[in-house]
Parts: sequence; C-alpha cells; structure tokens
Amino acid sequence: MPFDSLGLIPALVQAAAQSGYAAPTAIQAAAIPAILQGRDVRGSAQTGSGKTAAFSLPLLQRLGAERAQGSSRRVRALVLVPTRELAAQVGETMRSLAQHLPERLKIVVAFGGVSINPQMMGLRGGADIVVATPGRLLDLVEHNALKLDAVSMLVLDEADRLFDLGFAEELGRILALLPKQRQNLLFSATFPSAIQALADGMLHDPAVVDV
Ligand code: AMP
Repeated sequence: MPFDSLGLIPALVQAAAQSGYAAPTAIQAAAIPAILQGRDVRGSAQTGSGKTAAFSLPLLQRLGAERAQGSSRRVRALVLVPTRELAAQVGETMRSLAQHLPERLKIVVAFGGVSINPQMMGLRGGADIVVATPGRLLDLVEHNALKLDAVSMLVLDEADRLFDLGFAEELGRILALLPKQRQNLLFSATFPSAIQALADGMLHDPAVVDV
C-alpha cells in the first residue's frame, strides 16, 4: 500500500518520501486513516515500528488544516513522552515531516534537567504543538508559560515507560487541565493493568492498532 492512499495531503506524502519512507509500516497503515477521521487510537507498538510518524503525519495534517482556517497560535496538540531523548527525537521528526506544509506550525520541545528559561522564551508568542516530559510541562504551566485550554489532540507516547518512570501522578494532573473534548492517541509497547486502566478511562471508542 503506498503512502498516498492513506488520505494524507501531498505535502506530507512528499515529506515522508524525503525521509526515506517508501511504504507505510503496519502501524502507519492502520493508524493514519483512523487519526485523520478524528478517532481515538490505542496503539500497541514497539520503538522501531514507525509509531512516531504514525501519529505525527495525521496530527500535522489536522492542525495544518485548522491553522489554514485562521485559528490562533494556541497549543492545540500536546505530545507527552517519558524522556528528554524521546522528546528531542519526536520534535525533530515532526519538524522534518512538517517542512512542506503551506501553514507553518510552531513546534516546541520541553524536557527537564536543563534550564527552564530558554523553553519559556521558546513559548513566547504561542506554539501549535508542544512535545514534553510531564514534569517540565507542569513547571511551564505553573510559570504561566503556556495554557492547555485549547488542546484538541493529546498523544501519550510510550505510556508504559511514562508509568515506569513514575509520571502517573503528573499525568493525572495534566489530564485534569485539558479540555474534555479532544482526540486521544495512546501508544505503548506493553499493556499492564495500569496502562489498560488509563486507556479505558481516557479513550473513547478507540481504533485498536496492534502490530
Ligand atoms: P519509531 O518507531 O517511530 O521510533 O521509528 C523507527 C524508525 O523507522 C525511524 O528511524 C524512522 O525514520 C523509520 N521509519 C518510520 N516510518 C518508516 C517507513 N514508513 N519506512 C521506512 N522507515 C520508517
């Protein structure tokens, strides 16, 4: 199945080709059409499955379309990840996939263990997408550096590792700050009972993608 049969706009198909993606991986073939339709997704996927592009491509398409309709630069997509390395990697993949979009989307990456000031500066004037570790995201909210009241898409990437690294409490606090009406995408390599419970509570009639 070729990339251009998934419902993606040419700017994103072109970026995928330039990234060296010849054909969609299994998770991309299953998740991209569901996400474009606005559905919640529960994805069971390891690193290396292509899950980053599986959520990034349709997320960029949905946000780019909203931006074209003149939406203001408020954070509309929040991607929560367990580690700074993953935050940096997801941010880089998204920027590269977004490069041909007619609307410029501002993507801000934030993680702990480094000074918060440059990240606060980066958020001045708003952002469309924030990729962050949970603790630093809450710090930024507490510093009034960003608001979460316009988030319409939430991605939990490597949800099992978020829990393993002790972020369950932060995650609960973040979820409480988000609008109820939103699209949720949850990806995890494993589904122990805590992650299954999180998925059951958070996802509405999800497309279940197991690869
Ligand atoms: P991920 O599972 O998101 O960490 O991606 C693993 C690796 O697969 C990354 O280096 C991607 O650049 C690469 N990748 C993602 N999608 C595809 C694809 N459709 N074809 C070939 N490589 C891909």
